[in-house]
Amino acid sequence: MPWLTPGLEQDLNSLVPGGVHRNISLARVSRWRVGGTAPLVVAPGSVSELQRVMTYVSRHGLPYVVLGSSTNLLFADEGLEVLAIHIGARLGGFRIEGARVWSEAGIWVPAFARRLARAGLSGAEHTCGIPGTLGGLVCMNGGSQRKGIGDHVIDVTSVTAGGERRVRTREECGFRYRQSVFQGLGEIIVGARFRFSAADSPVLVRREMLAILGQRRRKFPRKMPNCGSVFVSNPAMYAQYGPPGAVIEQCGLKGMRVGGAMISPLHANFIVNHEAARATDILSLIGLARRIVRERTGYTMAAEVCYVSPAGEIVPAHIRAEALRLPSVDDSIPGVTPEPASGMGQ
Ligand SMILES: Cc1cc2nc3c(=O)[nH]c(=O)nc-3n(C[C@H](O)[C@H](O)[C@H](O)COP(=O)(O)OP(=O)(O)OC[C@H]3O[C@@H](n4cnc5c(N)ncnc54)[C@H](O)[C@@H]3O)c2cc1C
Repeated sequence: MPWLTPGLEQDLNSLVPGGVHRNISLARVSRWRVGGTAPLVVAPGSVSELQRVMTYVSRHGLPYVVLGSSTNLLFADEGLEVLAIHIGARLGGFRIEGARVWSEAGIWVPAFARRLARAGLSGAEHTCGIPGTLGGLVCMNGGSQRKGIGDHVIDVTSVTAGGERRVRTREECGFRYRQSVFQGLGEIIVGARFRFSAADSPVLVRREMLAILGQRRRKFPRKMPNCGSVFVSNPAMYAQYGPPGAVIEQCGLKGMRVGGAMISPLHANFIVNHEAARATDILSLIGLARRIVRERTGYTMAAEVCYVSPAGEIVPAHIRAEALRLPSVDDSIPGVTPEPASGMGQ
């Protein structure tokens, strides 16, 4: 790693005092508990610190990757060979003015949703159970109940690769289902402004949130490390066969294992790390589920979770899975041969 020069850590420390960390285990940080080591992580404590870091990064041509809470990321077993810029709790400012909300990107999403509920604002209830930072949520246009946070955005402020501040209106953010212009852009979201609506009563907002949390607790695996839903729902497949979890289940894949990774027996759109899984185990399962669903239904599922390569490229995990030579169902997973569900065409 030629960029990792002896003076780099000291320089970054002078730009972000107390915010530079060496040799961080990604397996300890990521929700899947998978991944090698990040040699250097910098966590700015203010937007101006981040701007100074990015100016330094661009002047020295340092390769970097942007991380929130890593709840949607599958890190390579080899770890990272680039600088990691982490936007987290140190950038957690928040303010409510009537129905308008301003928040920094590092705030924890369930805390964001709870603060809105306390203020009697409605619109973010669907985000109350989503782990991760607001920056990650905006980047992924995340949400639940078929909603996305982008619907409530007024504008998003980011810091460019060169260290400049930039503000984009909602239209300029290009929000689509689980997508935004920020994916693959290299800009770092530092905050956003939102407009929510005044609820008839804060009690109703809280009740709605409790109902959503209860549903999630019943449906989603919680005991084994996972990254939430692996595949995005495709409206055409949904109309014909149902959501990804139901389709994967109907293909007989619940409980299928590769190495230490397993398609959750509770909800088939989750892959759990049941025993020291490697990134390649998870990628193999993603590739297998995708191939079998394609063979049975004709629909090709896209992954919502993203793979982070050692070079810091972030791509939907199915793209990396396709690039690997995957084992076939018959030769790698003894005893597991999925049966086609009734009504599913070949
Ligand atoms: C148990 C569980 C349940 C989940 N349920 C849901 C759900 O219901 N709905 C849903 O949408 N998601 C869900 N997720 C996925 C995940 O929580 C969301 O995608 C979340 O918003 C990601 O936030 P993060 O901070 O962890 O981002 P990360 O995982 O760290 O990063 C995700 C992407 O955002 C980018 N990014 C992160 N922060 C910034 C920033 N400040 N500026 C620019 N880019 C940034 C990263 O580069 C990466 O491309 C779930 C995950 C888990 C583990």
